Amino acid sequence: AQYLRSVVRPAERLLKPLQFPHKLLMGPGPSNCPPRVLAAQALPLLGHLHAEFCSVMDDVKAGARYAFQTANAVTLAVSGTGHAAMEAAICNIVEPGDVVLIAKNGHWGARAADMAARHGADVRTIVVPPGEVFTLANIAAAMAEHAPSLTFVCHGESSAGTMQPLEGVGELCRARDCLLLVDTVASLGGAPFFADALGIDVVYTGAQKVIGAPPGVSPISFSERAMARVAARATRVRSYYFDVVELANYWGCDAGPRRYHHTAPISSMYALREGLSMLAEETLEVCWERHLRCARLLWRGIEDLGLKLLVENEDARLPTVTAVVVPDGVAWKRVVEHCMSKHAVEISGGLGPTAGKVWRIGLMGYNATEENVRRVLKVLQEAITACKM
Ligand code: PMP
Repeated sequence: AQYLRSVVRPAERLLKPLQFPHKLLMGPGPSNCPPRVLAAQALPLLGHLHAEFCSVMDDVKAGARYAFQTANAVTLAVSGTGHAAMEAAICNIVEPGDVVLIAKNGHWGARAADMAARHGADVRTIVVPPGEVFTLANIAAAMAEHAPSLTFVCHGESSAGTMQPLEGVGELCRARDCLLLVDTVASLGGAPFFADALGIDVVYTGAQKVIGAPPGVSPISFSERAMARVAARATRVRSYYFDVVELANYWGCDAGPRRYHHTAPISSMYALREGLSMLAEETLEVCWERHLRCARLLWRGIEDLGLKLLVENEDARLPTVTAVVVPDGVAWKRVVEHCMSKHAVEISGGLGPTAGKVWRIGLMGYNATEENVRRVLKVLQEAITACKM
């Protein structure tokens, strides 16, 4: 038999291997991966139910439990970036008509509200301006007013550089039969966080920030209360891919034999495993301390340049993402472009409500070093001088 010839010819651009410059990623993520993580990613593939791969998944579960500080049986990683974990959390807990309270002080609260609404929730919001955080009294009052069955709080609001205090929120939720969902994509590993002690029911993070793995697999954990809510649903979970009961089986979190649910992103899982392993070796305490030390150096350096930090209250600042107010007479975008084109250093503009108003500088995982703080300060200063309007 003679095959027909292909009609669409291979594009010239595909006929050479991939190449690009090395960049220092000092934006709000992804951050650069440590060489050990990249090496893990290059290991040979395994099948998605091979014993060795199940063992990698068990390592990831153990690493995620450590990072979240939880004993939850249903702790795993969803295949997808932070948004996938966010969607997995919401689609499993929310049923049409449920009242969901969203604490919104930036882009990520708005995104959670959008997702919850898509899943049929009756969304209520409590709002403070970007750069500010909620008091426990704010949250208590909103809960009393709306009587939600789920409350969403973003621990590290990366669009504004705030870190939301969580003490007491879990107790409020428990007293009202409400579940507590917390986004730690930008914060986990970079600041103290204790899922169980804080009474958190569902929590997720991303791989590409402090954990230092490529984006694409995202740890998530469901408490027993959360799983009881899932079991008591009147309607089926609308997503097959993110159905936590199916995922829990594939991840070996239930008593049954592991069944094929989907093909896990094998290589990305190796990388996540290695990132979590490095975090465990460093220990959370040392990692939290390293991020705070570097962040303080950055904050002081920014103020020494005569610039203003968006988050005035130091206690409410997120060590992993710092928002710097763009001064009058400086074109924020040209500064970002200058840092990249002249120095291959990424800093980022604002996002959502902070777009055009701030620069965001990330200090995450492998990149959270004093040397990188000094480098980014030098590059930023040069760029601002070069880009005065
Ligand atoms: N939540 C927060 C707080 C984030 O910072 C991000 C990523 N910037 C996300 C969720 C979404 O993660 P991803 O981009 O990996 O989908």
